[in-house]
Amino acid sequence: MITLIGLGPMGQSMVRVLLENGHGVTVWNRTASRADGVVAAGAVRVETPADAVAASELVLLSLTDYAAMYDILGKAEDVLAGRVIVNLSSDTPEKTREAAEWVEARGAKFIAGGVMVPAELVGKDEAYVFYSGPADVFEKHRETLALIGRADFLGEDVRLAQLFYQAQLDIFLNSLSVFMHASALVSSAGVSLQKFVPYAKDNFKMMDFYLEAAAEQIEKGDHPGDDANVTMMGATADHIVQASRDAGIDVVLPEAVKSHYDRAIAAGHGRSSWTSLFEVIKADRK
Ligand code: NDP
Repeated sequence: MITLIGLGPMGQSMVRVLLENGHGVTVWNRTASRADGVVAAGAVRVETPADAVAASELVLLSLTDYAAMYDILGKAEDVLAGRVIVNLSSDTPEKTREAAEWVEARGAKFIAGGVMVPAELVGKDEAYVFYSGPADVFEKHRETLALIGRADFLGEDVRLAQLFYQAQLDIFLNSLSVFMHASALVSSAGVSLQKFVPYAKDNFKMMDFYLEAAAEQIEKGDHPGDDANVTMMGATADHIVQASRDAGIDVVLPEAVKSHYDRAIAAGHGRSSWTSLFEVIKADRK
């Protein structure tokens, strides 16, 4: 028996995948009616968080954030000892660390997870999930967890799953916003976005070409600017801001990008590669 608490789109998909693979699943959700579909598919609904936690050694949480975990497990503290809590909700690495301490102080083990696909892809080939926490606990449940998606264990530092998850979402959300911005720029001239999309796709594909070499330069702290230097690209960043102003569209995103180039130039990286932006971005770290 596996317990799953939190029946948003993600939790519901996970329950279905577990049921399809022959597991019994106990479920609890704050809004009880949201369990109707998975109960019809074979899951067992219980009345309270404590009943849900008590039903299984392995307890999966799929909640909006980590605050929801305390709301729920705070009502099941007496039955937590000996359980393995796998929290697949999104939040910050620091909140993850605090949550692990809270759970472990109550005699349970804690694994953090970050699911990297939308609900319709849970359990499919494309699905993968970052995990971190005690390796022996993860290994014990790896086979079951791998039903949700490929299980990528990142290490015993429990923050790592959410660190990688948020870094991936950083890329994803910024990419979506920048595509919206570029689309607003193109459509300001009355051009159909369908005409622009193939070029945007090529641009995203080109990222594949840059990343490994960029990471190598960043890790060496060596930023040769022979082909494209910060001064040239900073001028382009400024052209994007000006073009956006001329088009009457939002300039927050291009101004943020331009500020990276301005600060890199001010720090003496004008003749270096664009990878030297990393030096000014990381300089803002605490
Ligand atoms: P939803 O926000 O739709 O649902 C999450 C669940 O959390 C619901 O069951 C909700 O209960 C419950 N919940 C929230 N707050 C509380 C609380 N204070 N007390 C009790 N229960 C609470 O999320 P999703 O299913 O879309 O996502 C789940 C997690 O997975 C999120 O952290 C999300 O970031 C992540 N994720 C989502 C993806 C997606 O495409 N949807 C993709 C990858 C990851 P109730 O039904 O009563 O509101």
